[in-house]
Amino acid sequence: MNRPLNHQGASATVQHYFDRAADLLDLDGNVRRLLLKPKREITVEVPIEMDNGQLEVFTGFRVQHNNARGPMKGGLRYHHEVNLDEVRALASLMTWKTAVVDIPYGGAKGGICVKSRDLSAKEKQRLTRKFVDQIHDVIGPDIDIPAPDMGTNSETMAWIRNQWEKYHGFSPACITGKPVENYGAKGREEATGRGVGILAFKMLNRLGQLPKDTDVVIQGFGNVGSHAAKFMYESDFKIIAISDVSGGYVNPEGINIPEALQHTLTHKTLEGLNNVHKITNEQLLELDCQLLIPAALGGVITMDNVADIKARYIIEGANGPIDADADQHLEAAGAIVLPDILANAGGVTVSYFEWVQNRQYYSWDLNRVRQELNAVLSKAFEEVWQTSQTHRVSLRTAAFMLAIQRVWDSAKLAGI
Ligand code: NAD
Repeated sequence: MNRPLNHQGASATVQHYFDRAADLLDLDGNVRRLLLKPKREITVEVPIEMDNGQLEVFTGFRVQHNNARGPMKGGLRYHHEVNLDEVRALASLMTWKTAVVDIPYGGAKGGICVKSRDLSAKEKQRLTRKFVDQIHDVIGPDIDIPAPDMGTNSETMAWIRNQWEKYHGFSPACITGKPVENYGAKGREEATGRGVGILAFKMLNRLGQLPKDTDVVIQGFGNVGSHAAKFMYESDFKIIAISDVSGGYVNPEGINIPEALQHTLTHKTLEGLNNVHKITNEQLLELDCQLLIPAALGGVITMDNVADIKARYIIEGANGPIDADADQHLEAAGAIVLPDILANAGGVTVSYFEWVQNRQYYSWDLNRVRQELNAVLSKAFEEVWQTSQTHRVSLRTAAFMLAIQRVWDSAKLAGI
């Protein structure tokens, strides 16, 4: 599925949400500039020798948006569409995301513009180490803590840690999303999808909608989509459609999610799944259902297709799946959207738990991680819900209001 042509772009969308909340908070222009401008932006050219002996140079970015509430935190993405505008927008989203769930971090994001699938494991490792050589002095456990994102994983994080420690000495808290057996956190992999499921449960409970009466459609069956599906299936939701890059798969009676998980383990794709009929990813978004969870790409709901979206409730598993104009359209039509800065914050929350454990040289069991995740997300959900009720605004505007107020309060307390 290609992104719709009039997809607005990540920066314009984030700016729009920020402005709407800042208007309601009555923030003046100086404060807005202070909160919107990134603290530091780094662009580096990373030369590496490819396996065939050729020299290639890749452009890498790290944007450190705001550290008023603590060290900056955000993923590192290897993708051929990585650009400064997108990294900037995603860094600011991390500031609001960590603030809305009230963990003591600011926001950052990074990436390297590269087709990561075309790299051999050795090339990817060389690229990662060279990138760390260039930015090691501006990242670290008390400055900016990277984590995996598209095109990177726990192995990449282990290389980053090893390279960073060559300069600064032992400190596993310099990076999160590490392999579990190597200072990673139990429950990190499932955390974002599980968080989506926990929040779906909370939101529908508030709306008086029972899981068993809720037809759910999930776009994307990767880390976020598959773990959300698993948690929700076990919580009695009826998941009538799922999808991956190969297409959408529907069964109005409900898809057997354990079978789908087993199928993807064996075949690496949902293609060929039993007891379903196949549709496109575009058609999937427009299915008749109560709850839609876009958990694959940004910018999939735009003015091109928003009029055809039938779900009354939407939970943003992916970052920025709905453009600002389309979001306004949905709000006017009475749809309730749980925004990405809360909906997919389970991942950064467990990353925070990983950092805490690393700094205590102590490891929690999976039950404790799950309990603490539930506590953080439940509190954040209630605060966002109450703010939306008090100010009669959408959950998105409420989440931005809470987050922006928290960041501004910290900046004020520090005397900025
Ligand atoms: P992933 O790579 O594990 O899975 C992505 C899924 O989307 C796969 O099933 C893939 O087949 C599918 N997909 C890819 N291209 C598609 C297309 N064109 N149409 C439909 N489906 C397509 O990624 P993920 O970690 O699950 O992340 C998904 C989204 O959630 C991204 O927007 C990411 O930024 C966001 N997110 C992830 C985390 C996390 O902890 N993994 C945390 C916060 C936000």
